[in-house]
Amino acid sequence: MTRLYDKVALIGLGLIASSMAHAMRRHGLAGEIAGHARTAETRKAALEIGIVDSVHETAADAVTGADLVVLAVPVGAMADVAQEIGPHLKPGCTITDVGSVKQAVIDAVAPHLPAGIHFVPGHPLAGTEHSGPYSGFATLFENRWWLITPLPDSAAEPTARLRALCEAMGANVEEMDAAHHDLVLAVVSHTPHLIAYTMVGVADHLRRVQQSEVIKYSASGFRDFTRIAASDPTMWRDVFLTNKEATLDILGRFTEELFVLQRAIRMGDGDKLFEYFTRTRAIRRGIIEAGQDTAAPDFGRGKAG
Ligand code: NAP
Repeated sequence: MTRLYDKVALIGLGLIASSMAHAMRRHGLAGEIAGHARTAETRKAALEIGIVDSVHETAADAVTGADLVVLAVPVGAMADVAQEIGPHLKPGCTITDVGSVKQAVIDAVAPHLPAGIHFVPGHPLAGTEHSGPYSGFATLFENRWWLITPLPDSAAEPTARLRALCEAMGANVEEMDAAHHDLVLAVVSHTPHLIAYTMVGVADHLRRVQQSEVIKYSASGFRDFTRIAASDPTMWRDVFLTNKEATLDILGRFTEELFVLQRAIRMGDGDKLFEYFTRTRAIRRGIIEAGQDTAAPDFGRGKAG
């Protein structure tokens, strides 16, 4: 593979950044990788694992001289980081982010960037329920989508180079506008997470009020929910605070569908339930055919997609 950037700075050294570092190293995509994280513990871990060549106590130091800067911190931390690094960015460099929400990140970051910096927001649709520098691995992005949401004035070359980086790490890249991204993600990721959090909360409540053995007997449906509901609380708090409109829209639709099924159960309408579940089963088949999951049963023990 060819080197795409001489120096990359990773701001945040958790699951996504460390996976990028592993993948960039494996494929020789970056000459040098500098990193910054909030705590000394994470910075030390990143050096020990060897995913970065240098760590820096401040984000401003880490971005000095970098050709590509990747913001891989929780969405709620993007504005402060952008404000800090703005004056220290190398003229003409590219800055991207990996935040799970796009419009809020653009609003938080863009005002802090000097003229001549190329901001190309992005979001890898890949992750696990694990966090931190030790959780990353080189193949995380393979055959996963990486959505890029260029701004109307994003220049072509920096966007193409970032696309090449994502593709070289194994991802399939698609470009779309930020509002569309946020609505799509509300359907395929954000609302499902909220439902999983809620279902696990219901089981926990039941366990407490009825001394029920829900954990002991948890079957695959509930176990899948618990895996999703084990996702990082900071990240997911920020997702719901910043993708509010789209999530509320999808939740409203979800509630309507739930009432339809609730009514079918109450009325003993088996045909309705059968027809509904047949339709949803076809969606699962479509996901497998698109290569976004395998048909192998893993009962919620495997990696998240
Ligand atoms: P993570 O494993 O929890 O890592 C977050 C990193 O950000 C940590 O290194 C943390 O440092 C650092 N950090 C937090 N606040 C900071 C601040 N104010 N200044 C500097 N560093 C700070 O998180 P992640 O899963 O990699 O997620 C990072 C981003 O990727 C988020 O925006 C998330 O929405 C997005 N994303 C996540 C997934 C997923 O499934 N996890 C998928 C796609 C996109 P310390 O360790 O020192 O606290």
